[in-house]
Amino acid sequence: MTTATLDPVRIRREFPTLDQSVNGHPLVYLDNAATSQKPRAVLDALGAYYENDNSNVHRGIHELSRRATVAYEESRAKVASWVGATEPAEIVWTRGTTEAINLVSTAWGLNNVREGDEILISVLEHHSNIIPWQLLAQRTGAVIKYIEIDDQGRWVLEDLSDLLTDRTKVVAISHVSNALGTVNPVKEVAAAAHEVGALVLVDGAQGAVHIKVNVQDLGVDCYAFSGHKMCGPTGIGALWARRDLLDSMEPYQGGGEMIHLVEREMSTWAKVPHKFEAGTPNIAGAIGMGAAIDFLSEVGMDAIARHERDLLAYALERVSAVGGVRIYGPESLEEHSALISFTLGDAHPHDIATILDSEGIAVRAGHHCAQLAMKHFGISATARASIYLYNTEDDIDRLAEGLEQVRSIFA
Ligand code: PMP
Repeated sequence: MTTATLDPVRIRREFPTLDQSVNGHPLVYLDNAATSQKPRAVLDALGAYYENDNSNVHRGIHELSRRATVAYEESRAKVASWVGATEPAEIVWTRGTTEAINLVSTAWGLNNVREGDEILISVLEHHSNIIPWQLLAQRTGAVIKYIEIDDQGRWVLEDLSDLLTDRTKVVAISHVSNALGTVNPVKEVAAAAHEVGALVLVDGAQGAVHIKVNVQDLGVDCYAFSGHKMCGPTGIGALWARRDLLDSMEPYQGGGEMIHLVEREMSTWAKVPHKFEAGTPNIAGAIGMGAAIDFLSEVGMDAIARHERDLLAYALERVSAVGGVRIYGPESLEEHSALISFTLGDAHPHDIATILDSEGIAVRAGHHCAQLAMKHFGISATARASIYLYNTEDDIDRLAEGLEQVRSIFA
């Protein structure tokens, strides 16, 4: 195991947005689970594409189109190796995690799920991994079942063998919870799901950001993630799925680029992944996501994970020392990703976030698109401080001082 460490103070110099004052204070950005900031290398890659190579991909027989196509496909290969795909063709570009899940629930779901079949998800899921399955259930007559959570926001798996039946067609679960930070035992559930022949889709929006993912090792069938949470641009993300699964699936959207031959009555489809990429894609976004992967690889995922673990431990200590704070999520650091979801006495989370914002500290407040998880705890919202590679102990000290101020106002 490498012992490389990272220097967040040096790293944050690569992120222009972090170098500013907000409401008269140096910015402390702790809303990384919503979206991360972008390093100069990603901004430069976007600029270089638009300034030098801007052209459509796979179409033009001219130099600019050739360059754009090479860069676009090279990025696909980087994304493929980022998650341990067998080949770049297993990566479908999407707008993000949400579109990747909708692609599977529609293109695979409508052809494989029937009335009375079962879809297993968890109450910890982001709405992006609930609503597409509810739509599929409404359209097919399938039934949704839920993995429940305990008082630390961890899946309750004692009754997993009852939840999985020979009618279970798909198990759709998150790698890491954006609402509570829980790192879920995806590998264990995937193995059990495969025993009953179910497809396993993982929402990796908060996974591939912090964890070195290997889809072969996880033993899953589909893994969805977003570029913007891992230093890349907005509007780009990816679906990894097994090649044979993608080959067997019907198209998701129709249009240019996804066809082989077009006839009056019916047409044939391009090979994967292009079968799923109708229309002009987000070329700059894909190139930017490739640059983000280069950046993160250079820093090193082991070093990032270690930094986040240390900073989370420090943050848990500082935040829990503020009177009236209640932290939601796993107590063990092993099971807890780099965010703290909390309430503070009677202060509404929106008030907490507003007071922190007046001090230049950005956190998220609300249900975090996880209303079922909030309901489990009998609350409607929490405040959430989420950490990334450029955060420092100073950021956490400022957060703790801001929370003392909130406490003094609401005491
Ligand atoms: N799942 C989880 C766990 C998330 O945190 C998010 C983003 N908040 C999503 C899905 C949706 O990602 P996107 O909006 O990039 O499609």
